[in-house]
Amino acid sequence: MTTPTINTTTLNFSAGPAVLPEQVIEQAARDLRDLDHTGIGVLEHSHRGTAIARVFEEARNDCRAVGNIPDEFEILFLQGGASMQFGMVPMNFLPTGRTADYVDTGAWTSKAIKDANQVGSTHVAWSGKTSEYRNIPADTDIDWSQDAAYGYYCTNNTIYGTRWNRTPATTSPLVADMSSDIFSRPIDWSKHAMVFAGAQKNIGPAGTTLVVIRRDFMDTAYPQLPAMLRYAVHADKESMYNTPPVFAVYCAGLVFKWILSLGGIEAVEAINDRKAALIYKAIDDSDGFYAGHADTADRSTMNIPFTSPSADLDAAFIAQAGEAGMVNLKGHRSVGGIRASIYNAFPEEGCQKLADFMATFAAANRR
Ligand SMILES: *Cc1c(COP(=O)(O)O)cnc(C)c1O
Repeated sequence: MTTPTINTTTLNFSAGPAVLPEQVIEQAARDLRDLDHTGIGVLEHSHRGTAIARVFEEARNDCRAVGNIPDEFEILFLQGGASMQFGMVPMNFLPTGRTADYVDTGAWTSKAIKDANQVGSTHVAWSGKTSEYRNIPADTDIDWSQDAAYGYYCTNNTIYGTRWNRTPATTSPLVADMSSDIFSRPIDWSKHAMVFAGAQKNIGPAGTTLVVIRRDFMDTAYPQLPAMLRYAVHADKESMYNTPPVFAVYCAGLVFKWILSLGGIEAVEAINDRKAALIYKAIDDSDGFYAGHADTADRSTMNIPFTSPSADLDAAFIAQAGEAGMVNLKGHRSVGGIRASIYNAFPEEGCQKLADFMATFAAANRR
């Protein structure tokens, strides 16, 4: 076998699973063979032993530090992806006779609404469907109910490239899907009852879902559910009710340490703002050659879908970028065109390289 090398020449713009920090991959490669001089690799340890207990404890503590998460919130590492939460949230918090409010800003909220409708009664407080999910509503455009069981929204819309630049104002407990922008910027915990995120975009590999839930909200959950569907069970067992996704939690823990090493979430946010600005500038300076999908005011710093003047040119762009080492730039099938996903771990130089390529491509193909 040849010595494995880390490929630093490929720039991976994947929407998820996505690029991870190089330091995390290097550490994980070492720990695959031997975790903490135990003589046993991280994949082979029992979750009931002290080595993995320490991994979970550190992951929780570092997660709390990264996110500035207050003590009244539990930090859980669950399975089933973010999609599992689409059903678990209403099963726990949407009792008969009540309604839950949903703001529909894209495909992922639509799926969440569908699942909630299997469980109980929902009210779509706003939908961006007719405007192709290009924007985020103003507070005055959202029709919240009087006494909703909870309000639900998605902070960053992975497919359409929009994000909330504020936390919506509700009177009911607020639940947020932060799968594609968690820990890319600070979170206002005073306005949330629960936040969840599939790990594979911003905090690690696929296999675990981070759930951060306020204890007093958790305590209002419907109790007659199977154990695996109850947040309180997972909280009580410190995310080890059954065999947990050890490797995914271990990697997320390394990513949290990496964020702390960069200076924390504010430092990461500043880097993300610079990265996104490079690509948006290439769109805005292209004299209309490129068009972004999202309204300017609601642009995401994580996912940037855009088009060139034709589907043929989009295809040429993706092919030529691929030859230059920039891969996974094809847009989601529902939007088409091109999408650059540039999560926390995506390097700033990669954004500069894409921006340069965009200018060159536009100059060569302008009519
Ligand atoms: C990717 C994504 C999901 C789905 O995540 P799974 O872990 O695959 O279930 C849900 N919501 C958002 C915002 C996403 O980006």
